Amino acid sequence: MSVELKSRAELELMRQSGRINAEVRALLAEAIRPGVNGFELDRLAKQAIAERGAEPTFVGYAPLGKPPYPGAICYSVNEELVHGIPGERVLQEGDIVSIDLGVTYRGYVSDAAFTAGVGTVTPEADALMDATRRALWAGIEATRVGNRLGDVSAAIGAVAEDKYGIIRGYGGHGVGRKMHMEPHIPNFGRPGMGMRLMAGMVFALEPMFSIGNPATEETDDEWTVVMSDGSLSAHFEETVAITADGPEVLTRID
Ligand code: MG
Repeated sequence: MSVELKSRAELELMRQSGRINAEVRALLAEAIRPGVNGFELDRLAKQAIAERGAEPTFVGYAPLGKPPYPGAICYSVNEELVHGIPGERVLQEGDIVSIDLGVTYRGYVSDAAFTAGVGTVTPEADALMDATRRALWAGIEATRVGNRLGDVSAAIGAVAEDKYGIIRGYGGHGVGRKMHMEPHIPNFGRPGMGMRLMAGMVFALEPMFSIGNPATEETDDEWTVVMSDGSLSAHFEETVAITADGPEVLTRID
């Protein structure tokens, strides 16, 4: 496995990409409310990205013979886990929605996501989102020089305890000139295993937990991933650079 190390100049471009990603996600977070649909949030994202001189990474993305992805965002509601296509589904009070955003700025990609409640949500939904967010930050804490990739995966997975399902088929990844690069980063693992982490590596960490069984399936649109048992799922993601001083979250919303 060859994992790219970013130069100082590349890291600075990734910081700028990450900052734009954070600004646009903050606008999206403010726009989430009952009655809004995916199209409207996607239009907002496309406009805000263009105004910042960047491009929406996800538009036209077509791996493995899939139909080109149409949106700037992924918009995944309740039992939808990830890769939901933003469309006419309207947010209702009590829903939870995952918004995933890729930004390309001067050739460098930042990838980040959050899950938010629409109005007031159940305590179970709140606890699920809180655990998934805490798992992301546990993973970020472990993303440092001297640790191994398994330490990151294990730190994320440990937060699920036996309370939440950990989705196995999807995970984090290296990121840079392309969105999906080596290594793949599972959301479960064993400490002390895997490659050693080095300064200059940049990862997108993205835990996904479910309230029910973690099995997933793809819908007929060939993109949307849903929980097979229809249970709620949550997803949080940040792009993180490993520096000599520790992890630097490039996509953090201040
Ligand atoms: Mg990602």
